[in-house]
Amino acid sequence: MRVAVVTVGDELLAGDTVNTNATWLCGRLTERGVRVERVTTVPDRVADIARVVNEYRAEYDAVIVTGGLGPTHDDLTMEGVAAAVGRGVEEHPDAVEWLTEHGGYAAENLAEGTTHLPAGARMLPNEVGVAPGAVVESVYVLPGVPKEMKAMFELIEGEFEGTPTYSETVVTSEPESGLLDRIRSVREEFDVRVGSYPGENVRLKVTAADPDTAAEASAWLRRRVELAEE
Ligand code: ATP
Ligand code: MG
Repeated sequence: MRVAVVTVGDELLAGDTVNTNATWLCGRLTERGVRVERVTTVPDRVADIARVVNEYRAEYDAVIVTGGLGPTHDDLTMEGVAAAVGRGVEEHPDAVEWLTEHGGYAAENLAEGTTHLPAGARMLPNEVGVAPGAVVESVYVLPGVPKEMKAMFELIEGEFEGTPTYSETVVTSEPESGLLDRIRSVREEFDVRVGSYPGENVRLKVTAADPDTAAEASAWLRRRVELAEE
């Protein structure tokens, strides 16, 4: 399964908020064997949200969108997603019902727009906040507040499946340029992908389709590189 993640918010683009939602979603999806092939951040603007979501839903098996769900003027995600799938936004009876039953809100006290979802969407209850999420076609819309996003993702994560991969990391103090021969050799010897991530040390991430291959290939590398002190 191939997935795109879209995070919405001017504050992300301004550098005011660290995009932890994207990182968290990428980690959880990768653990499930799902390949995340795009992470895109767009401003709080209906046309931008609609354009990117429309492009990605054509290309990927699913799109996960976070942020911009509340009732304030800058919360435009539902409108953008609805436009992407050629639908309108309307009051969703399940959202009204859930919030009046579980949220303790009287329908007339809910801020205008809180219960508006793309027409025909499946409502996702917000168990730790107010604004509900939605699934429409292959687009999953989750809140921006990390705690709410995570709780809602857990309701739908069973819908994301792929082929798990297995990784091991080897940390070496050698410079990356000196490692090229061993990176080439380990890829020839074993059916693995190798990621090379330089920093203070170089982290070599060995990924295979089964745990034994990942273990053998990383052991092979550990015997042939200067290991960093940890
Ligand atoms: P609300 O219903 O509270 O308005 P929302 O779903 O509309 O929530 P936003 O208004 O986009 O979400 O963001 C609410 C807060 O969540 C932001 O102030 C920010 O702190 C945090 N947030 C939003 N997007 C992200 C993100 N991608 N990564 C980390 N935090 C985020
Ligand atoms: Mg908001």
